[in-house]
Amino acid sequence: MSEAYDAVVVGSGPNGLAAAITLAKAGRSVAVFEASSSFGGGLRSAELTLPGFIHDVCSSTHPLGRASPLFRSLDLERHGLEWIDPPIQIGHPLDDGSVALVQRDLAATADGLGPDGTAYRRLVGPVVSAWPTLIDDILAPFHLPLRPRRLFDLARFGLAGLQPASWLARWFREPHAKALLAGSAAHSMLRLDAPVTGAYGLVFLASAHAVGWPIARGGSARIADALVAELRVHGGELFTERRVASMADLPDHRAVLFDLGPRQLLEIVGDRLAGFYASSLRRFRYGSGAFKLDLALDGPIPWRNPELGRAATVHLGGTFEQIAASERAVAKRRLADRPFVLLAQHSAFDPTRAPEGRHTAWLYCHVPNGSGVDMSEAILATVERHAPGFRDRIIGRHTMGPADLEAYNPNYVGGDINGGRQDIFQLFTRPAIRLDPYSTPDPRIFICSSSTPPGGGVHGMCGYHAARSALRGVLSQALN
Ligand SMILES: Cc1cc2nc3c(=O)[nH]c(=O)nc-3n(C[C@H](O)[C@H](O)[C@H](O)COP(=O)(O)OP(=O)(O)OC[C@H]3O[C@@H](n4cnc5c(N)ncnc54)[C@H](O)[C@@H]3O)c2cc1C
Repeated sequence: MSEAYDAVVVGSGPNGLAAAITLAKAGRSVAVFEASSSFGGGLRSAELTLPGFIHDVCSSTHPLGRASPLFRSLDLERHGLEWIDPPIQIGHPLDDGSVALVQRDLAATADGLGPDGTAYRRLVGPVVSAWPTLIDDILAPFHLPLRPRRLFDLARFGLAGLQPASWLARWFREPHAKALLAGSAAHSMLRLDAPVTGAYGLVFLASAHAVGWPIARGGSARIADALVAELRVHGGELFTERRVASMADLPDHRAVLFDLGPRQLLEIVGDRLAGFYASSLRRFRYGSGAFKLDLALDGPIPWRNPELGRAATVHLGGTFEQIAASERAVAKRRLADRPFVLLAQHSAFDPTRAPEGRHTAWLYCHVPNGSGVDMSEAILATVERHAPGFRDRIIGRHTMGPADLEAYNPNYVGGDINGGRQDIFQLFTRPAIRLDPYSTPDPRIFICSSSTPPGGGVHGMCGYHAARSALRGVLSQALN
């Protein structure tokens, strides 16, 4: 280990790695300190159930990873990353046995929605058309683009996206299109009558058409591997099993970027961040938690409607009203009677994930922050409703409730997988109200985790923008 670095990054999640790569590519010496025994944060895969069954411990499906302006620019495929595109991007069954499907092709998806096809095209189509530049403006801190066309696209998106998903649902008449909107909007982990949930619905639906909802061959850890390889190409150094508990644990540096949440940042830097900023961090609000269930199966999921076998991601929660009720209950700190369940069936498209003929299932539902209730039975009952005989296929299981998730990674406070509540008040002003949300009152200290804009998900853009902030600030001087 060198004795001094231009920058030290604490934490090797996608944002920490993205920050380190951005700094290293700009010619700065960088070291990444990771507490765990492997790199990647939310990008790890492991044999959680039985030998030979590879499960994604956290993130599983990567529309934002595919869309990320930074990841696109890095050509991660040359480091072995291989995206797998399922034939159907999102499957969504209803209780009557029918399904709504999001296909890569917008027109085909709209055609499948019958009388709501035209409305779907009119609502989602403009986001897809503007996508190539709009996504760069969405995956960024709040700003107004200078180019009139981009400003127009962002303003048009904002006008629709600021609305609650429950308002956008009025565009549709039938349950299928409404259900697709609800399933995408519920990724916000907010109640669906809350402002900005429309934006989540639109971005996730549009992403399915613009870039797809791919999975990584071999597991999400392969994305982390590719990022680590890229960092090493540019001279970055990385260390595992180096938990940073105080500033004294860091080597000499000109800047430090924390891929951590506000709570941990305060613990580590202590009095260096006092006053209004420190009290803002103390007031930072966390969102709902997740309860995760990974299964090893002795065969494929026996879907009642076989179309669902063609989707890597399936949203199980029923109609818009049913999903809205589930998210409303969780927001009120109650357990949903019928939880909204997110399911991914990787091994159906990636044979490296399970022994031949066997399969994996990745599932989670939303729960009140810090909930200690085991949701396994509620999740299994939800799947069983659409796949009779599913339970009989289970040969191994692994659960992670909010406390387990937080023990696994302290960034997941109370099981909040997005690094903080992502409502209208905290979307752009995370972690505190500041012109440059990555900077802190100490010019050498930056925060680069998903607790900064644009928030949760595997896209690395929090890290990229934090690194740019450091390069404009304390690291702006000429290189040695
Ligand atoms: C169950 C689950 C499902 C998800 N599904 C998806 C999905 O399908 N698609 C998607 O895009 N996103 C998904 N996410 C969200 C995504 O994983 C996160 O938003 C993303 O990982 C955040 O990245 P980050 O770099 O900000 O932080 P993290 O990934 O949380 O990384 C932080 C790193 O810092 C390390 N660390 C913590 N404390 C210290 C310390 N004191 N010293 C040193 N190192 C430390 C941690 O070990 C960790 O490696 C999911 C998350 C979970 C938990």
